[in-house]
Amino acid sequence: ASVCQYFDIAFKVMLLGDSAVGKTCVLVRFKDGAFLGGNFIATVGIDFRNKVVTVDNAKVKLQIWDTAGQERFRSVTHAYYRDAQGNLCSIKTLPGCVCCRMLRTRGCVRLSAFLSSALLLLYDITSKSSFDNIRAWLTEIHEYAQKDVVIMLLGNKTDMAGERVIKREEGEKLAKEYGVPFMETSAKTGVNVELAFLAVAKELKHRA
Ligand code: GDP
Ligand code: MG
Repeated sequence: ASVCQYFDIAFKVMLLGDSAVGKTCVLVRFKDGAFLGGNFIATVGIDFRNKVVTVDNAKVKLQIWDTAGQERFRSVTHAYYRDAQGNLCSIKTLPGCVCCRMLRTRGCVRLSAFLSSALLLLYDITSKSSFDNIRAWLTEIHEYAQKDVVIMLLGNKTDMAGERVIKREEGEKLAKEYGVPFMETSAKTGVNVELAFLAVAKELKHRA
């Protein structure tokens, strides 16, 4: 039985993909149920949000890391990948490690609670370049991420049907080629956003 009243098990999830595909909006939609419309605010460096979901009667905490896809932030992302070998506290480049802080202040989180992690890889269905870059992202992931990382491919902005340039089938085909699950989402309408995170939480919980 868990000694922590807040959750039974915790995992790190990281959002990846080109700039402007909707990573921050997908995270805000999942966390707050709202759409960050209007102005595009470039994420600087890496930030995270926590959310607890229920999987098979267990409280699963997802610590979701939002990243900037810009080339100039690549080194930051790499540093995270390299240290994401299962031990969150080994991340020295990032401030505000909740795991360390909670260990010290509450003593209720075991490091081993951070058993594995997942990557949500996003492209924008209205942007061919963001879709074409998915292969490069996957190459990078295979180079830097831990081997048993849970990966999911998301085609975002399905509400923009009129401007769609990447067919659903193309996303499905690419996902199948790499053996990863696939969903189309919209941070604007919220379609499939919660489902995607729940699918990842379920997979992480089952593998743990
Ligand atoms: P990031 O760089 O990947 O974090 O992208 P953002 O989350 O900042 O989103 C980039 C732009 O796309 C912003 O103007 C958002 O309002 C917009 N956006 C994000 N998700 C969606 C979506 O699902 N539908 C629509 N129509 N716009 C979106
Ligand atoms: Mg962002």
